[in-house]
Amino acid sequence: MTEIFTGSFTQQEPIPEAGIEAALAVLRHGRLHRYNLAPGELGEAALLEQEFAAQVGAKYCLAVTSGGYALSTALRAAGVKPGDPVLSNAFTLAPVPGAIASIGARPVFVGVTEALTLDLDDLAAKAGQARVLLLSHMRGHICDMDRLMQICDAAGITVIEDCAHTMGAAWNGVPSGRHGAVGCYSCQTYKHVNSGEGGLLVTDDEEIAARAIILSGSYMLYERHLAAPGPEVFERVKYDTPNISGRMDNLRAAILRPQLRDLDAQVRRWNDRYRVLEAGLRGTPGLTVIERPETETYVGSSFQVLLLDWPEQKIEAVLQRCAARGVELKWFGAAEPQGFTSRYDSWRYAPCEPMPRTDRILAAILDMRVPLTFSPADCALIARILRAEVGVVFQDGIAAI
Ligand SMILES: *Cc1c(COP(=O)(O)O)cnc(C)c1O
Repeated sequence: MTEIFTGSFTQQEPIPEAGIEAALAVLRHGRLHRYNLAPGELGEAALLEQEFAAQVGAKYCLAVTSGGYALSTALRAAGVKPGDPVLSNAFTLAPVPGAIASIGARPVFVGVTEALTLDLDDLAAKAGQARVLLLSHMRGHICDMDRLMQICDAAGITVIEDCAHTMGAAWNGVPSGRHGAVGCYSCQTYKHVNSGEGGLLVTDDEEIAARAIILSGSYMLYERHLAAPGPEVFERVKYDTPNISGRMDNLRAAILRPQLRDLDAQVRRWNDRYRVLEAGLRGTPGLTVIERPETETYVGSSFQVLLLDWPEQKIEAVLQRCAARGVELKWFGAAEPQGFTSRYDSWRYAPCEPMPRTDRILAAILDMRVPLTFSPADCALIARILRAEVGVVFQDGIAAI
């Protein structure tokens, strides 16, 4: 009997009851705007910021409308100006170069390794080209952050971390988002907490924090923030920082606070599923499982394998055969952008020299989401299907046709 998987790769869990209750309370009192507070009320958005700052050990936190908005705000607050070059990953998703382009700056792409992390040799070679690195921990793979920070500190590069896939992760015990000057997180449905849309930004830099808060649309109500620097810092920046509205509202914040309290437990559940996939796929001929370093505390909310040096037609055959059995894989080798997946050479507003070593890796990446609605048994089934279909195509020979 041919096994078929019938689960949905895009179905997340419901919002926890505590989040639904908190959301209803906000709807019932009607004060959704974060600065619309009753006497003595602190507000869900401000409390969310205070709690997330404590959770990752940051001095300051700002909640905003999206992860992409957090990235562009971080870049602006760090002083990036139109025309400035900004180093960033060639392997990431479109909102990352998009955030750079949104402020009129120019992405300079850095390659990816077989570990799916930023190529630090390529970074070192390009370090002289920009003052800021927008580092994406794409699909949760964290590079050697100690070496990355050495390279960037030596070159005077400010690091902004895109932690859309690493909320709850760490490198060498330091939470993701806390190595660089700013950490940015997404609270969009497909990430680690779900408010539909939303983003968080953390930093220990008081001027970046004050600028980001004013940029997000605080008007002169910044004293209603609980994870913000003192008024004297705002005095220094308030006249030359524009208001570019992108605040989070109390409704989304209310939905998020209970989810953040559950984050560690959710991470354990994701990693239980991840390890089942890993165990089911290790040792498959022709397929490379990405071994995670011990120094990395990851969140297995998605899973990648490599079919290195396979001809395109053979990879397409695997994708089709898996899809026919209910296993939807994304491929980063396709020439045309599809769904959420695109490549550095699809972002034509950001011209770039060809990157052959990166192209080799991108052409090999198969990617899947692992929503928590999948059971560990579902993950075992997915692994069996992928292993079998890779086996069928590989046996046939992968010599170029
Ligand atoms: C989702 C995502 C973002 C942007 O987050 P939004 O909240 O959707 O704006 C940024 N970087 C990566 C890698 C993402 O996956």
